[in-house]
Formats: sequence, C-alpha cells, structure tokens
Amino acid sequence: MTRLMCRECGTATPASDPISRCRCGGLLTLESDAHLSLDRLTERQPSLWRYREAIPIEHDEHIVSFGEGYTPIVSGSLNGKPVLLKLEYLSPSGSFKDRGSTVLVSKLVEWSVEALVEDSSGNGGVSLATYGARAGLRCTVYVPEWSPSAKVLQMERVGARVVKIAGSRHDVEQAAREACESGDPTGNPFYAGHNWSPYFLEGTKTFAYEVAEQLDWKVPDVILFPVGNGSLLLGSYTGFGDLMNLGIVGRMPKLVGIQPEHCGPIVEAFEKGVDHADPVAAAPTVAKGTSIPDPPRGRWILEAVRRSGGMMMSVSENEIVEAMNTLHRGGYFIEPTSAVAVAGLKKYVAGFTEESILVPLTGRALS
Ligand SMILES: *Cc1c(COP(=O)(O)O)cnc(C)c1O
Ligand SMILES: [Zn+2]
Repeated sequence: MTRLMCRECGTATPASDPISRCRCGGLLTLESDAHLSLDRLTERQPSLWRYREAIPIEHDEHIVSFGEGYTPIVSGSLNGKPVLLKLEYLSPSGSFKDRGSTVLVSKLVEWSVEALVEDSSGNGGVSLATYGARAGLRCTVYVPEWSPSAKVLQMERVGARVVKIAGSRHDVEQAAREACESGDPTGNPFYAGHNWSPYFLEGTKTFAYEVAEQLDWKVPDVILFPVGNGSLLLGSYTGFGDLMNLGIVGRMPKLVGIQPEHCGPIVEAFEKGVDHADPVAAAPTVAKGTSIPDPPRGRWILEAVRRSGGMMMSVSENEIVEAMNTLHRGGYFIEPTSAVAVAGLKKYVAGFTEESILVPLTGRALS
C-alpha cells in the first residue's frame, strides 16, 4: 500500500487522502510499492513517464504531461576540463521543476482537487501554473515582491492568479497556507507547495534514471547541483539509490551542492559538521531560485550529500554572473540560478581533475 509517512511523529496516512503535510506540521515522505522496471523501456517514448512503474500515480488517465524529461546530455568543457551538461532548461515551462510538477499535478487530479495554491519565487510557480493549466485547475501562486517580472508574467499568461507578498520567503509561504485554511476566492484550494510535497520528489528522481540510461547505465563520478530546497539533489539521491538496489549501477555519484554565499544555510551546516541546517539571514542574490534561507528538507540534503561522499560549496555573486556569461557565450541561455552550479564547477575542477562530472543546467534565462 502507498502511504504518506510523517518524518516527525511517524503517523501514516493512506495515499488516497489528499494532504500536503502532517497534522503535526511535519514533512511527509512517501512509501510506495512503485518500483522501477526497465523491461519495457525500449518501446517507450523519450519522456520521464517511460519509468512509469516507478511513479506512484494509480491510473494512467490521471497523468498530466507535456512529454517532459529525457532532456539531452551534451559534452562541453570548462577551464579545459571535459564536462557533461544536461539541458534541463529545455523543459516545457523552462526548468527542471516540470519533473516534479507533472507528478504532483497528476496526483492532484487523482485526488479530484480543483484548485491549487503554491508559493514560489519563480520557476516552481511557473511550472505548477503550467501543468495546472493543462489539467484545467485554478491556480494561485504567492510570490515574494522581488520575484522576477518575467516569471510573474509567465504565471499570469498561463492563467494563474499571482499574489505578491511583502516580507520574507517564510511570510510568503504562510500567506499561501492561510489562504488554503481560510478558503480564498478560488474556493477551497489545496496547498501544493512544491517544497513540501513528497510527490514532487517522485518526479525529480527520474533525473537519475535518465542520466544512467543516457550514459549506457554508467554514472558520472560527480554531479553538481544548485541547491535551494534540494529537490533535484534529493530526487537524484533516491533515483540512484533505486538503480543501485536493482544492481543496475554499482555506485552512487558524489552529489555536490552549490549555494550562493548570500544564502547558504546548507553550506554553513556542512562546514560546521552538524546534521541540521539553521535558518540564515539571507542577503539578496542574483540566483533567486536558491534564495531559501530555511529549507524544510535541510537535514535530508546534508545526509544525502554526506552519504554520497559529496560536499557543499558556496560561490560569490561575481562568480555566478561570470559563470552565466561564459555559458551564454557558449550558446546556453541559462538563468542566474543555474549558473550557481557552473560557478561551483569552476571551483571544483580547480581542485579535482580526474573525475567525470555532470552538471544539470536547471533553468532558462529571461527573468
Ligand atoms: C528551483 C531551482 C533551483 C533550485 O532547486 P532545488 O531543487 O530547490 O534546490 C535551481 N535552478 C533553477 C533554475 C530552479 O528553478
Ligand atoms: Zn506528524
């Protein structure tokens, strides 16, 4: 049976009940019977739904998809070192968030939810609004005032109602939750915050399956991720774990997380050697998608990074902009948040040379 388990109090809820977090306020994880199977891969479309057996949606007719996933991997080089780049910015709404949204919105349809509320500074909201539009859901996205205007425009053009909130990222999340508890103009909406939903991670884990399949069932030595809430890193940790359990790959790549110096709660905790991340006072950063001073899944990110033999690193605003400029001139039109990982790569290859490295280019520019 598929169940939603609370990480805090251990309460189990059947996955047929629409909930976004435990009654105690705790984060939920999913325990499911869905298991990766590779038997029929060759007959399937190049989309993340080719790993259908691993994705905990009961009925195919609930799937909400634009054919996302299976993004290209191209070889490039940086400072003379070869690197593999996975072009996540070619996703339907412009970022890897579509991996999470296709699964989360499919589950909302399975739960007969008609209206969703999300809080996001950018791509999470864009992505959920995009998939919400495809599913015919009413969508409201709460955004911080500093949310990039191109993202707000994209949300509105696909039909979402956007509510700007003054204050911290936490205030934005609170406003979204309160709207769900008290009812808002769209009726009784469901809180579908992508930072909390376990279904979102069920989508991002396909990143790992794809990397392995596209590299002929080998894995790179290292993968560098820009880290805000860690949804791509955590999904990958699960995904590579699944592949190891099946005996398909022999080892986990080192998962390396990069954060801006201006907002690096996980880097701070990693360097202190502690097992949880305290909230930080964030300074503004060009990498708005990583401006998460208090990531709900901080503890798991630290665990995943350490268990994989990886590390956390921080990069300055200058390094981020320089990395973005380099990539743009190479024809990769990525957004500043994506450049966080590339800036980290420049630092990483200065110290380590022999490893094979892959970097997801997570989101497209225009922000
Ligand atoms: C959300 C986002 C990130 C950060 O991802 P997390 O999985 O939340 O750490 C990085 N890059 C882009 C383009 C994003 O949209
Ligand atoms: Zn609980």
